[in-house]
Amino acid sequence: MLDKKICMLGTLAVGKTSLVRRFIEGIYSEGYQTSIGVKVDKKVVRDQQVTLVLWDIYGEDRFQHVQPAYWRGMSGYLLVADGTRRNTLDEALALNQRVLDTGLKVPAVLLVNKADLAEQWEIGDDRVAQLTQNGWEIMRTSAKTGENVDAAFSRLTLKMLGK
Ligand code: GDP
Ligand code: MG
Repeated sequence: MLDKKICMLGTLAVGKTSLVRRFIEGIYSEGYQTSIGVKVDKKVVRDQQVTLVLWDIYGEDRFQHVQPAYWRGMSGYLLVADGTRRNTLDEALALNQRVLDTGLKVPAVLLVNKADLAEQWEIGDDRVAQLTQNGWEIMRTSAKTGENVDAAFSRLTLKMLGK
């Protein structure tokens, strides 16, 4: 069984921890975890003979300078933005640039999370289309309803495996 390290990247409160909990435990709970550090979860994907090792990093904003150490050895990442806050997409893309600047080039999928909050949505279809055109694979997810969460991890897994 292969181990593949995946990092959850994105600014504060976009839903990284909630997406991991939904994927690993199948649950969602309100509430914001502000602790600083890193949490590592594992999930075996039998179909693909792979163990996903998920790294969820807390406290990005003030501690961004320590992140390259966490990125080391990752096989892919989920870049997460919050669809109800347009600036989180810009912050996600800036973070992506920092990853590229370290010389890492691994598969990524961009998630626009909180799809259940449609009435507060700030990221238009045109923006998504533009990013898609620039080569991004983008999925709309909701950790709350579970929409596209498994699909997002599967998509990234297949990309990491070159499929
Ligand atoms: P993180 O800082 O990126 O790890 O974000 P969290 O997972 O801690 O989530 C931040 C806040 O957004 C929490 O209050 C969550 O309950 C909420 N949240 C996360 N995902 C969703 C979602 O898909 N829909 C809604 N409505 N709220 C979400
Ligand atoms: Mg978190």
